[in-house]
Amino acid sequence: MTNRTFTMIKPDATEKGSTGGILEMINAAGFRIVAMKMTHLSKEKAGQFYEVHKERPFYGELVEFMSRGPITAAILEKENAVEEFRNLIGATNPANAAEGTIRKKYASSIGENAVHGSDSDENAAIEGAFFFSKLEQF
Ligand code: ATP
Ligand code: MG
Repeated sequence: MTNRTFTMIKPDATEKGSTGGILEMINAAGFRIVAMKMTHLSKEKAGQFYEVHKERPFYGELVEFMSRGPITAAILEKENAVEEFRNLIGATNPANAAEGTIRKKYASSIGENAVHGSDSDENAAIEGAFFFSKLEQF
């Protein structure tokens, strides 16, 4: 699974109609979509997904935000996918995101930053399995 990563297009981007534009940037960067679905996370599910941040001061805000509206979840394939995708999305805070990155173009704040990207191969596998069964991965 070293050539796969997991992403979510977050509720802020869904609300703004940015889903198509973000998917276009993902395709243009050479990622293959191997699984994709639109869904609406409950607070419980959003809390589970971001459980590693449970002790952080922004956890409550993050769970509220991520359960506010629909998201698009996807598994992406490319050589060195995790690192390449982190490069494509840019810094967590869009104010620090490089030109040409997804967050530079579509994110509005450190909290509402348009997309998620896995931070390791291990987490990519865990996060992908959170949303997709083996039968749903192509
Ligand atoms: P993600 O995991 O969503 O790809 P990231 O890895 O760039 O983002 P993390 O440190 O894992 O950043 O934080 C997870 C998410 O929590 C961020 O994307 C953002 O939505 C939110 N977040 C992080 N820091 C803050 C903060 N200081 N205030 C509000 N929300 C924050
Ligand atoms: Mg993270």
